[in-house]
Amino acid sequence: MDDKNYKLATKMIHAGVEPDPATGAIMTPIYQTSTYVQSAPGVHKGYEYSRTQNPTRHALEKNLAAIENGKHGLCFASGMAASDTVIKLLSPGDEVIVANDLYGGTYRIMTKVFTAYGIKFHFIDMHNAENIRGYINEKTKMIWAETPTNPLLNIVDIEACGKIAKEHNLLLVVDNTFATPYLQNPLDLGADIVLHSATKYLGGHSDVVLGALILNDDALQERLAFIQNSCGATPGPHDSWLVLRGIKTLHIRMQRHCENGKAVAEFLKNHDKIGKVHWCGFEDHPNHEIAKKQMRGFGGMMSFVLKEDDVDHAMEILKKTKLFALAESLGGVESLCGHPASMTHAAIPREERIKNGLADSLIRLSVGIEDVEDLIEDLKNAIG
Ligand SMILES: *Cc1c(COP(=O)(O)O)cnc(C)c1O
Repeated sequence: MDDKNYKLATKMIHAGVEPDPATGAIMTPIYQTSTYVQSAPGVHKGYEYSRTQNPTRHALEKNLAAIENGKHGLCFASGMAASDTVIKLLSPGDEVIVANDLYGGTYRIMTKVFTAYGIKFHFIDMHNAENIRGYINEKTKMIWAETPTNPLLNIVDIEACGKIAKEHNLLLVVDNTFATPYLQNPLDLGADIVLHSATKYLGGHSDVVLGALILNDDALQERLAFIQNSCGATPGPHDSWLVLRGIKTLHIRMQRHCENGKAVAEFLKNHDKIGKVHWCGFEDHPNHEIAKKQMRGFGGMMSFVLKEDDVDHAMEILKKTKLFALAESLGGVESLCGHPASMTHAAIPREERIKNGLADSLIRLSVGIEDVEDLIEDLKNAIG
């Protein structure tokens, strides 16, 4: 199909998917094969070896490119493998400016893996994108932002970052895992590379780990595809198929995540034992206006602290919920809760965490698509 002519939901269902040429199967088969027969040396149908390319993965890569309004999609064995590939574009001595509120694993790969390779990462407050300017020097190559951020739901102005990146010839990488293409398309706002942990909303059913990059530039695509194939962290066909299937319902799941998210955030905000609630849909959220400008909704991710940062009470709540399962990850149909300080963000030193506003009693919620009355009742009972 000519993807450009269709709107988002249609692309989610159809982009990259053609009836199987061998059988007419309407759904992309799981091409569970490592290699492909050649009729003479070098004569083949575009597939030689499945680390390099696989038809199921290829369908997913085309679908992802279409739904992010990009030209190229690349899939990886995990979101972290996608991040790893992007950082490998750099050389020793290069510098990256990173939003200081980000996924713990991203912080870890930067500080514990790539710092040893001579790459320097500046973790800065990107509430105001203009802060970036103070850290740019002749060694700077990349700006890296997550928005909304994990777990504090801060918002980074993608368009403003894009302008600064263009002015200084830097690559802007945006982790769009939380928003998904349903709520936000960073390439349209000036990002060069969009990164996804498809493990989360894109897969949507907590049954697969997969990562992706989407971009427009042909030369950059060649460099990234070279690293993808050389380093080899590619997903298998079955995992690719699961994400391709998940994306077909992304729009209706996200619609419900947004509705339920709003109801749960408002319930928490009005609860007398709850302190601050971080959700970018609130009008008093520090960057709500930017969220409204760059997003089409506010999603089902939020976090909150107990009054007086009561950690014991937070621990009790995490043990008492029945529907909100205590688990890492997010973005599935089922609701999850987590304690970032000891779980997803344990890799960040306490001092650093507190400085960035990640309190000890902070609880993160991934609000699922169950009946919202049941979700609120569950929280009500757990909070007491
Ligand atoms: C989970 C996550 C990642 C890492 O993805 P994996 O698939 O777990 O490797 C990166 N960024 C964000 C925002 C995430 O939530």
